[in-house]
Amino acid sequence: MLLFYISRFKKIIEDIKMVKIIIDPKCTGCETCANTCPVMVYETKDGKAVAVKADECLVCRACEAQCPEGAIQIIE
Ligand code: SF4
Ligand code: SF4
Repeated sequence: MLLFYISRFKKIIEDIKMVKIIIDPKCTGCETCANTCPVMVYETKDGKAVAVKADECLVCRACEAQCPEGAIQIIE
């Protein structure tokens, strides 16, 4: 039972620390974000950027700054 509560507590802490990456539907799939990100957070699926490794984001905000459509929002 104690282990259950410890794992629940760890999950809550991880969720609080998790960076949210919001990609607007106006994304054109240009892959600038994928080519900019130093830790390869992005992949392109069906012509749109997808943050497949958001948990590894360093919050450097390079993708936000470089996206030509202003389609990326990084929320801490
Ligand atoms: S840089 Fe912007 S427009 Fe280009 S793929 Fe990434 S989110 Fe989409
Ligand atoms: S903020 Fe930096 S580390 Fe995070 S997804 Fe964008 S480019 Fe990658």
